[in-house]
Amino acid sequence: MESSGGVERAGSLFKEFAIEPRCEACLSTDIKHHPKSRLSGSVIYQCRQCGLRGLSTRPLMEDLAEFATTYDRDRYAEWVSITRTGQIDRDHAAVLDRINRLVGPKDDRSLFDVGAGSGGFLSMARDAGFRPAGNDLSNGAVDLARESHDIDLMLGDLADIDDPGQHDVVTLWCVLAHVPDGSTLMRDVLRVLKPGGLMYLQTPRWSAMDTMGMAAQDVARGRATKITDRRLGMHHMVLHTADSIRALLERLGYEIVAVEPHVRYTLTTASYLESLGFNERWRRRLGKPIDGLLDRDLFFRNVLDVYARRPLDS
Ligand SMILES: [Zn+2]
Repeated sequence: MESSGGVERAGSLFKEFAIEPRCEACLSTDIKHHPKSRLSGSVIYQCRQCGLRGLSTRPLMEDLAEFATTYDRDRYAEWVSITRTGQIDRDHAAVLDRINRLVGPKDDRSLFDVGAGSGGFLSMARDAGFRPAGNDLSNGAVDLARESHDIDLMLGDLADIDDPGQHDVVTLWCVLAHVPDGSTLMRDVLRVLKPGGLMYLQTPRWSAMDTMGMAAQDVARGRATKITDRRLGMHHMVLHTADSIRALLERLGYEIVAVEPHVRYTLTTASYLESLGFNERWRRRLGKPIDGLLDRDLFFRNVLDVYARRPLDS
């Protein structure tokens, strides 16, 4: 990541750094800036080559890591309680099944989950015959994973791992968009994979909803940012397209297996609408129909699933 001096932004907890002038995925300099959000102060850039959208300034990883340590067990458990647990389990099972088939049967298969949270996915992977390993930046997650699933996570960043080439599978459930420098993260993932090993990631996708939200913000010159601020901010610093995620991974030396858009909402609809600023009355009015669409897989395809390999001869 190129950094050019810190930028202090009103309302931000962190000192920020500019990531431009190149697209972080395909390295193109053909970049457009959208009007600054008057609500959050953030500026979103768009790569005209690969379609990636991202925050044009971001906090440092060290600062984010330090912030993550303030998430203790109870605060973490509270967050878990507003997620769609049943749906998440079903998504985890479907992805694990696919991973299982791609890796094939062999002795001692190890799966490392980056940002493993409370360890639910690793516990499922262990049941499917994988040796579970993982990390998280939050103490609370490490405590919960031990308590709920008897899984010991490493507390800290992937970059701190000094035994490369150890894992048959590395998974990242919505981690890529949370880090300021995706290239460094995905390079670290490649390093801990065995040659021929499989990487799976889920990341938020630039969807039709975002196109509408961004059009509103462009027309209102930085007002009307409810949707874009919810979708792109400190929590999700980048929204990928199929082209941009391919460009990023191929540039780093991955072999792409599959890139697929899916409908997957982690929060309950009520919590999601609340986060978009809808009041109680609207949450009640909109919650049911949206739940119906989600159940039938008809809502905006908001995420990308990506499967890729470290080449055997690397
Ligand atoms: Zn690009």
